Amino acid sequence: MPQPVLYNLSLAELEELMRAWGQQPFRAKQLYRQLYLNLTNDPAAMSDLPLPLRVRLHHEAQLDPLELVQSQQADDGLTRKALFRVSNGALIESVLMIYADRVTVCVSTQAGCAMGCDFCATGRMGLLRNLSCGEIVAQVLWACRELRAWQVKLAATPHTPIMSTGEADTQWWGSESGAFSERVTHQVNRVTNVVFMGMGEPFANYERWWAAVERLHDPNGFNLGARNMTVSTVGVVPGILRLAEAPLPINLAISLHAPDDQLRSTMMPINRRYPLAELLAATREYTERSGRRVSFEYVLLHGRNDHPYQAMALAKLLRGQSISKGPPLLCHVNLIPWNPVPGVPLSRSERSRVHEFQQILRDYGVACTIRIERGASIAAACGQLAGH
Ligand code: SF4
Repeated sequence: MPQPVLYNLSLAELEELMRAWGQQPFRAKQLYRQLYLNLTNDPAAMSDLPLPLRVRLHHEAQLDPLELVQSQQADDGLTRKALFRVSNGALIESVLMIYADRVTVCVSTQAGCAMGCDFCATGRMGLLRNLSCGEIVAQVLWACRELRAWQVKLAATPHTPIMSTGEADTQWWGSESGAFSERVTHQVNRVTNVVFMGMGEPFANYERWWAAVERLHDPNGFNLGARNMTVSTVGVVPGILRLAEAPLPINLAISLHAPDDQLRSTMMPINRRYPLAELLAATREYTERSGRRVSFEYVLLHGRNDHPYQAMALAKLLRGQSISKGPPLLCHVNLIPWNPVPGVPLSRSERSRVHEFQQILRDYGVACTIRIERGASIAAACGQLAGH
């Protein structure tokens, strides 16, 4: 019999397990609290459980399905990347980002990715396998433990790291100008945001990914607000339509990266399956059904998708003035200067071009920010996760 992985089990399933082990059902609640509130991943430390149960958990259940292989830090320790080994030996990565007013963890939903976007390190790996609900949840819990350890260390040291706050539009050039500009004024003592933007396409692993969303949201356990979670898709239309019907209002980000089908198909093979007209129609349906705004991610590549005429075409697309006819889409554009990937002969847009691109979008009435750069020196930034 394979050992149950505790992070794979809902509270009801834990109660079933406890019953099968001859325990009172309330033990499941105690165990659940240990896992998701106390962040315990060692049965020996679950002091409110009787010793025989702790021993049985140690021998007959698996607590943490992730083996930490390596962790790295950048940005004065405010960005932390973890490399984990999962059960078939595949490697995945997660990134913790500490800001003055929030703490975000970026988690993977697959080991590798089948989508093959040509600017992305993960896409070059191919798909190794889908992650389980427990493997997705465990990345968030790692981030919580890492944050807790950082805060203990911070309390013991007079040095206070400096960091940027606020919107990304003026500060993305962090590594060049030393943009970490503001001293920490207060400590956020828990992970406040989870973004499913690490390795993999979440909608290609929808069931397990959604189980992880529900687990993290569960008020009996981790209790993270649905609006504090964001899923990013490459543009898998059935997933977008399914999310529109989902019972939890989590945020949706769509990787767009090009304003026309010809270019987008060369960058992102998924566009041949779900071309822009279909993608934008699904997005419109999503915003109308859910009433929620969508974020479009747009990675900027020098000379490829960063020309002013492309900014104008993008603006028209989102304003409903070209192939996507109708009222302006309820949306926001997040520009991401491309992060280098070894062996990929592309380069990031110049700073002035990024700002020009942003201004054009704004002039057309499209809300637009530039993402704060984090973790590029440890290959933890967008598109750089490759399981090394
Ligand atoms: S950008 Fe996202 S969907 Fe595309 S290959 Fe990379 S991980 Fe996969």
